[in-house]
Amino acid sequence: MTYDFDLFVIGAGSGGVRAARFAAGYGARVAVAESRYLGGTCVNVGCVPKKLLVYGAHFAEDFEQAQSFGWSMGKANFDWTTLITNKNREIERLNGIYRNLLVNSGVTLLEGHAKILDEHSVELGGNRFSAKHILIATGGWPQIPEVPGHEHAIGSNEVFFLPQLPKRVLVIGGGYIAVEFASIFNGLGAQTSLLYRGELFLRGFDSAVRKHLQEELTKRGVDLQFNSDIARIDKQADGSLHATLKDGRRIETDCIFYATGRRPMLDNLGLENTHVALDDRGFIKVDEQYQTSTPSILAVGDVIGRVQLTPVALAEGMAVARRLFKPDEYREVDYRMIPTAVFSLPNIGTVGLSEEQAKEEGYSVSVYESRFRPMKLTLTDSQERTLMKLVVDAKTDRVIGCHMVGPEAGEIVQGLAVAIKAGATKQIFDDTIGVHPTAAEEFVTMRTPVAS
Ligand code: NDP
Repeated sequence: MTYDFDLFVIGAGSGGVRAARFAAGYGARVAVAESRYLGGTCVNVGCVPKKLLVYGAHFAEDFEQAQSFGWSMGKANFDWTTLITNKNREIERLNGIYRNLLVNSGVTLLEGHAKILDEHSVELGGNRFSAKHILIATGGWPQIPEVPGHEHAIGSNEVFFLPQLPKRVLVIGGGYIAVEFASIFNGLGAQTSLLYRGELFLRGFDSAVRKHLQEELTKRGVDLQFNSDIARIDKQADGSLHATLKDGRRIETDCIFYATGRRPMLDNLGLENTHVALDDRGFIKVDEQYQTSTPSILAVGDVIGRVQLTPVALAEGMAVARRLFKPDEYREVDYRMIPTAVFSLPNIGTVGLSEEQAKEEGYSVSVYESRFRPMKLTLTDSQERTLMKLVVDAKTDRVIGCHMVGPEAGEIVQGLAVAIKAGATKQIFDDTIGVHPTAAEEFVTMRTPVAS
C-alpha cells in the first residue's frame, strides 16, 4: 500500500517539529499539521515569552540595587504595552524561524485542524491524507477548575496578552507556572497574592527549596496564602473581582489567574475513530517506544503527560524519528536525572532526587547545605539569600540530588547535571577546584554534612 506520507505529525510544537524535521532529514515524506501557532506552547504561550517577562520583572530590583553601586537615576517607570509588543514581535520572529526550519527540511506544512479518520488517515480542510505513521503531538491546554464564576478568570494562554498590567493579581496554584507568574507580576509592580490549596507550594520539590522560596517571595512582598482555595468568583460593577474562599474569606482583586495544571489537548482529534487508549489521568497511553494502542499511531510530548517539559518532548520527538526512519541510531530517552528550573525570582534549579524522595527510595543520605547572601547584594540593602543543597548516597558517595534557589540557578544546575548524570561522587565534587568568586563554587566547597 502506498501512502501520501510516511509520517503525518499533528501539532507543530516542540515534540512534533523535532520529530518532523529529523524524519524528513532521514529521507521520510513528512507532513505536519498545525491549527494554531508554529512552535506550540513553549514558543507562544510558555517557556519563551515567560522567560522574557521574567527578565522584564527582574529590572525592578536591578534599578534599585544599582544605586548602592553609585548609580543614580530618575524614577523608573514600567510600561506593560511596550513589553508585550516587543515580546509579540520576538514570538512572530520565532514563528517564522519554525516555518523556515520545517519548509527547508522538506516537511509539508499544513495549516488547519487535523482530525484522525482511521489508523492511517487524517482529514484537514476537507482533504483526506493517508500516512504510514501518525504522530500525535498536540500538547496540553490550561486546566481551570469549574468554580462558579471561573469565566471571569484567566489561564496561561491569556496572561501573555493582558491589555494592561493589573493593579492587583490573585494567582491560584502552587506549581511552576503559579510561582513564576507570581514573581513576574510582583516584580512588575502588581500587588500579588498566591493562593495554594496545600500546606506548602511546589509539591515534589525538595522541602528546603520549597521553604526557602516561600521566605524569599515573602521578603519580596508576595502575599502567600496556603491551605486556601477559591469557592466562587463574582465580578463587580466596577470590573473588579471578588473571590470567595472555601473558608469564607473574601479577596478583592483585578485579575484572577489560574495556574492549576494542564490537560492533554485531544479536542476533536478523532480518537474515537481509533483504538488509542488513555491512561487514568486522561493522557494518551504509549509504550516505551511511544506507540499507542493503535500500532500505526504514536504520541509524544505533553499529550502523553510523562514529563511536561520542552526538552523532554524534543528528546521524545527525536526518538520517534530515529525509531521509524533511522533505527540503527535509535536511543531510548533516559528519564532519570532530568534537570529543571523554575524561573521564579529567585530562580530554582534542580536535578535528581529531593532529600525526601531519596529517603522514600531507601537511600541512606548525607545532606550538604549552604545558605548565603550573594556577593552582588553585599553592597545593597537586599536581604535575599541563596540556598544550595546536595543529597548524597552515603553508601556509594554518589551525588543523587542537587538543588539551588538563587540567581542563575538554572544555568548553574545545567552544568552540574552533566556531572551528576555521569555518576559523580561527592569526592569528585570536593576534588573540583572552584571558580572564584562565584556562587557556583559553593557546590564544590561544602564539606560538612548538615544531616546524615
Ligand atoms: P503543575 O502541575 O506544576 O502545578 C499545578 C498546581 O495547581 C499544583 O500546585 C496543584 O496542586 C494545583 N492544582 C491542581 N488542580 C487544582 C485545583 N482543582 N484547584 C486548586 N489547585 C489545583 O502545573 P502548572 O500549571 O504550573 O504547569 C504545567 C506544567 O508545565 C508543569 O508541570 C511543568 O511540567 C510545565 N512547566 C514547566 C516550566 C519550566 O520548566 N520552567 C514552566 C511552566 C510550566 P497540588 O500540588 O495540590 O496538586
